[in-house]
Amino acid sequence: MTKIGVIGAGQLGQMLGYAGQRLGLDFVFLDPSDNPPAATVGPVLKYAFDSDEGLRRLAEETDVITYEFENVPVGAIAKIKPDSPVYPPAEALEHAQDRLAEKKLFGSLDIPVPGFRAIDSTDDLRQAAADLGLPIVLKTRRLGYDGKGQTIVRSVKDIDSAVAELGGKDLIAEQWVAFDREVSAIGARNVRGDIAIYPLTENEHREGILSVSRAPAEAGALEDRATTFLTRLLNKLDYVGVLALELFVVGDELLANEFAPRVHNSGHWTIEGAETSQFENHLRAILNMPLGKTGMRGSAGMLNLIGEMPDVEDVPASKWHLHNYGKDPRPGRKLGHATTVAKDDEEREETLKILAKTLNI
Ligand code: AMP
Repeated sequence: MTKIGVIGAGQLGQMLGYAGQRLGLDFVFLDPSDNPPAATVGPVLKYAFDSDEGLRRLAEETDVITYEFENVPVGAIAKIKPDSPVYPPAEALEHAQDRLAEKKLFGSLDIPVPGFRAIDSTDDLRQAAADLGLPIVLKTRRLGYDGKGQTIVRSVKDIDSAVAELGGKDLIAEQWVAFDREVSAIGARNVRGDIAIYPLTENEHREGILSVSRAPAEAGALEDRATTFLTRLLNKLDYVGVLALELFVVGDELLANEFAPRVHNSGHWTIEGAETSQFENHLRAILNMPLGKTGMRGSAGMLNLIGEMPDVEDVPASKWHLHNYGKDPRPGRKLGHATTVAKDDEEREETLKILAKTLNI
């Protein structure tokens, strides 16, 4: 039986596992935490993500290795690469871990981005404010997620405190984008280079965390452009697996914000809403299997369940699917999600509204 090794055993690993079980695959995870969600799917090797022994055991026990979060140390991939195939490739990880390298990569592929500057001092930020105009979003180049590691500079008097707040160097300043909407383009590429791309997803964030996703997004001509950008990125990185490209919509323009070299929260609707889920297609891609179809099964809406799980009895039956990752409740923590697949956008909005009200979201 083919065994998949996954670095990280959170909810993404868990959902990869559930999809893989239906393909007859076995899983082993590597994760230092107690009772991680993916323990419901397969054994978890309890080691740090960069532990030599943990990585060696993972490589020994499995046929192919993947990961479920983008802060896997690149050195960890290098350690196992000679013995085991590891996908997505390290080059994707390197770019996704550094916002500056990522923005430069987008630029080299003619994918438009907000104006940006590398910042290593308050003088750099002063210059960036003069060049790009204010407001500016100042972000750490590395290790930011869900809006963490960033701050908005609205006036020149915020410059000193903003740079100090984020550690003084290795930062990036980005033009503040007054976007109309945020969308994500999610696609898979397998080892031989076949590509399958999902309909564009529209995303609503609250306090920097994804709250609601809707697919298909109303995109018109933007759909083709997003597909072109995503295809360029996948091919350039010789990418294998699922990748999510996050974009701002400004009028009829698209600006790239960032990409995630992994299955993505904004693609959770694909479990019930697409012909093949992002999780199955990620596994198909890394095993060089034919990719599954990405067509919609209806109008899909996904609501993240953050901080506390609802009582199941409270939620109207039949029109939605509840996913409980089995995590301990904590404010701001993603504990599960609910998906509806409706006959049209109107029905989807009605169901989302009822769900949000019932669940007090
Ligand atoms: P990020 O961690 O870069 O994905 O940022 C988290 C969220 O902050 C994004 O989903 C946007 O809602 C917002 N954001 C990030 N960068 C910008 C920007 N340059 N202009 C406006 N909003 C932004």
